Amino acid sequence: MRVFQLKKVWLALFVVVMALLLSLQTAIAANDVTVSIVNLSNKNVCSVYISPVTDDVWTGEQLGNSQMQHWAKRTFNVPMGTYDLRADFCDGSPRTTVFNVAINANYTWEIGKDVPVTNQPSAPADPAPADPTSAEPAQPAPTQQQPPTSNTSLNDLFSFYEPDIYQFWLRDAAERGETHVRPQVTYSWRADVAAFYDPSNHSIEQSRIFSAQIKNKFGDYSVVTVLAHEWGHAIQADYGYFDSFRFTIYSEAQADCLTGAYTQDAERRGLIGPADVQAGRDVMFFVGDDLPWWDIRAHGSGDARVDSFNSGYWGGANACFQ
Ligand SMILES: [Zn+2]
Repeated sequence: MRVFQLKKVWLALFVVVMALLLSLQTAIAANDVTVSIVNLSNKNVCSVYISPVTDDVWTGEQLGNSQMQHWAKRTFNVPMGTYDLRADFCDGSPRTTVFNVAINANYTWEIGKDVPVTNQPSAPADPAPADPTSAEPAQPAPTQQQPPTSNTSLNDLFSFYEPDIYQFWLRDAAERGETHVRPQVTYSWRADVAAFYDPSNHSIEQSRIFSAQIKNKFGDYSVVTVLAHEWGHAIQADYGYFDSFRFTIYSEAQADCLTGAYTQDAERRGLIGPADVQAGRDVMFFVGDDLPWWDIRAHGSGDARVDSFNSGYWGGANACFQ
């Protein structure tokens, strides 16, 4: 009997807590405002971030795998607050940002009104860390965004190389008559994962904690190498290789090879140098161990992974699809 009464007390408590949670949620929803984003630029937008200023990394990506075409308008509901807004163009040209926007009522951000809509983008609104050897602000901006210099923040590495890897594979897909869909990439703070590709929603997650560790250990390009490896899995999915390799060591070897192919191209375009390539090989060797953070599937020895990377580095992507 005593047990029965205790159960009733718990049930009552549960009901009260649920009611409180529901009313709290209603209160939060009542404070939501609408952010309308209009793409007035002449380029497609692939990512839009509505990121609370209190977050020290970009959060709140809204588009997922969708794009905003020229003149497209999208609306998003967010709680009232102060935000940083960012839009990334699909062609990898400098992103546009506005900071510290107090959004207490419905708000419209017109992308392209504050950035050039010609083919000559100005310097990014959110510039890469200043390179002390070239402080020439009056120079016309290059059409190709400059790669980050060494010892760059993770955010700048990701925001430069993610679109660059994407563009590389878009070009490759076009040459092969394949279709490449940009994976959704999340840079998380999880300590229990390194990086992985999730085929269920064509997404990549890369841990900032892990990235900071390898960046310190091997250098900036090791972080890009890991992203390029996961992107290789996305390519496997797009090109129809993923299922044929799943859960086998060969899938990893092919992704390592595709990482080498991107690395070769990045070096050929002058984005990286021999020390960066070595950082790529070093991290490949490092993840060859049976460490749990890479992923739970089988992967080769350090030597085998470097060999796979080298196959793509010397032979390009074709060498990976033989
Ligand atoms: Zn992998």
